[in-house]
Amino acid sequence: MSTNPKNILESPIEFLKGVGPVKGDMLKKEMGLFTFGDVLMSFPFRYVDKTKFHRIRELHTDSDTVQLRGVLRRLTVIGEGRGRRLSGRLRDETGSIELVWFKGIHWLERSLVVGQEYVVFGKVNDFKGNRSIPHPEIEVVSPENTQQASTFAPVYPSTEKLNNKGLDAKGRRKLMKSLFEKLKAADLPENLPDYIVQKFHFPSRWEALQHIHFPKTQKELDQARNRLKFEELFFLQLRLLQIKRRRKDAVKGYSFTTIGDHFNGFFHTKLPFELTGAQKRVIKEIRRDLGSGVQMNRLLQGDVGSGKTMVGLMCMLMALDNGYQACMMAPTEILAQQHHLSVSEYVEGLDIRVAFLSGSVKGKKRKALLEELAAGEIDILIGTHALIEDPVVFKNLGLAITDEQHRFGVKQRGKLWKKNSPYPPHVLVMTATPIPRTLAMTLYGDLDVSVIDELPPGRKEVKTVHKTENNRMRVIGFMREEIAKGRQVYVVYPLIEESEKLDLKNLEEGYAALSREFPIPDYQISIVHGRMKPKDKDFEMQRFAKGETQIMVATTVIEVGVNVPNASVMVIENTERFGLSQLHQLRGRVGRGAEQSYCILMSSFKLSNESKERIQTMCRTNNGFEISEADLRLRGPGNIEGTQQSGILNFKIADLSKDGRILQTAREIAARILDDDPLFERPQHSRLGEYMSKEGRKFKGWSRIS
Ligand code: ADP
Ligand code: MG
Repeated sequence: MSTNPKNILESPIEFLKGVGPVKGDMLKKEMGLFTFGDVLMSFPFRYVDKTKFHRIRELHTDSDTVQLRGVLRRLTVIGEGRGRRLSGRLRDETGSIELVWFKGIHWLERSLVVGQEYVVFGKVNDFKGNRSIPHPEIEVVSPENTQQASTFAPVYPSTEKLNNKGLDAKGRRKLMKSLFEKLKAADLPENLPDYIVQKFHFPSRWEALQHIHFPKTQKELDQARNRLKFEELFFLQLRLLQIKRRRKDAVKGYSFTTIGDHFNGFFHTKLPFELTGAQKRVIKEIRRDLGSGVQMNRLLQGDVGSGKTMVGLMCMLMALDNGYQACMMAPTEILAQQHHLSVSEYVEGLDIRVAFLSGSVKGKKRKALLEELAAGEIDILIGTHALIEDPVVFKNLGLAITDEQHRFGVKQRGKLWKKNSPYPPHVLVMTATPIPRTLAMTLYGDLDVSVIDELPPGRKEVKTVHKTENNRMRVIGFMREEIAKGRQVYVVYPLIEESEKLDLKNLEEGYAALSREFPIPDYQISIVHGRMKPKDKDFEMQRFAKGETQIMVATTVIEVGVNVPNASVMVIENTERFGLSQLHQLRGRVGRGAEQSYCILMSSFKLSNESKERIQTMCRTNNGFEISEADLRLRGPGNIEGTQQSGILNFKIADLSKDGRILQTAREIAARILDDDPLFERPQHSRLGEYMSKEGRKFKGWSRIS
């Protein structure tokens, strides 16, 4: 079935009863709703229980939204300026309560009638024993809202503009009602195979959509929600797994069949330590991919310090052994330089040419480098996203590694593919810190996944404590003790663009205060922040790395990748302003040597609950996988660093922080179907084929996200 232009779901929103061109425009602009289908698929974010009326005398503030029925007894505008408000009093047979509106006063004052009986919804406030309901919804009593009141009223996301145009909660409900008057079951045919619907006792698609908007009971609502969540996650997984399979079938890759001198030479003469079991396993997994003749697209996850760089290097050596070039791309200049440095050191003495490219490589130097690269005189190129710019041409790029992937945008990843022909390079994506399982399954759901779940031996857990300003002197004392033992200390300040000036001031004041506590010549302090010239930054980093300075005062520029094993103390200032994965990443800068290391989280005394939980999580565990799950739970998927640009996570109903089990099931079933019937040829799968090709437009552009 091809898309039918007469499909009612594609009708423009202005044709819906009660909308029209003006409101239509507003719904498009404010909510992104263009068609009947968009309206149908914008689900309530909560429901008001209208199955019962509360009695005013029995109200208390901890109840959720309440529904009241009573007579409006008084209505007056009181206060001035910002405090100006409309105050009314609603009375039922048990008592009375104040109703207050701060907005839309004029309109409400004219339309509400004292002495009239109303139905009111809202949340009860208690101010010093004075109960009121701010901004209640209010409707004149009618048969519709009293007699057949046994429903849960949906509440849709809205904006002030929409509210003012009468598209408030009530208005939106009305729209939805008029939409359902137009729709028939046939407009929303089942899209899941019957055996799945039966297996999970799902309501039909038509029922589920009715019930998600107008549930009569909690049970109806739960079942509808379950089904729609499954549906959303299932089709996404089906699509991602389809992309993965098709790529495997269609996108050929260079087959790296040889393990040669580069790899072996390095392995036998240069490798400075024994690989961990997990590193060996992952290298094997990658090697299998690289030899398969199909392009590799693999995600490598591992905790901070688990040795991903080494794995990356050894894979690059395989590319070299087979006559290809390799590149490694990092999200920041400092990190890229660090990789360049360590890779250069690792392969010193082997006949391997390693080069560095970033925005700071300019002029003649850049020109020469690009020529050498195109001529194949460079084996390994390491750098920032400058690597994927158009003028950068490889002779034969066989493997592209992106480190700390979650900072790269989706588009940038796609560019990597085009860096070589006839086949795209093999792609290995490495994340800085672990990402939650549900996110990995969606954001990277079309990639194969390898996990390094083991740290190199001898690592001691970093001891983490939380301190406030009162403990400052003890923290300084502790720093002195550690420095006296020959160790080094990081002191990190937050820096975000919006408050950059203030943040820099904080950093500078902190630096000045530390300089008084740790005076020259007994102590040397480095300072590094994003506003410094790369050259100066580098100079300061080098001084610290060489042990010439004992303290490094920095902003989060040091967050990723910096490696100074002698540093044993990480002091984080204003901890409440950092996200969990950032904190974990920062903490990963210490505990890299044999010494016991410490992380001291400084914060103000007063903390929000979320900040408290973040800090407690950090003090409780060193495990990045656990921390990433906590982060997802606390902040929700939309706020996890690096995911914002990805439209994949704009779910209509599924919630990755809560629906892990549904997701897992959906993915397993999708995989089974594709194994068994990849083209949906079996009759029980015919709906899937139809639905996927119809909805396929939505997924456009995904096939090359990595
Ligand atoms: P990450 O996974 O965070 O990128 P790195 O690759 O930076 O970790 O490795 C962290 C440190 O551990 C580096 O100093 C590296 O040399 C060291 N390392 C890596 N693998 C091993 C190993 N198998 N045994 C001992 N040290 C290792
Ligand atoms: Mg790393």
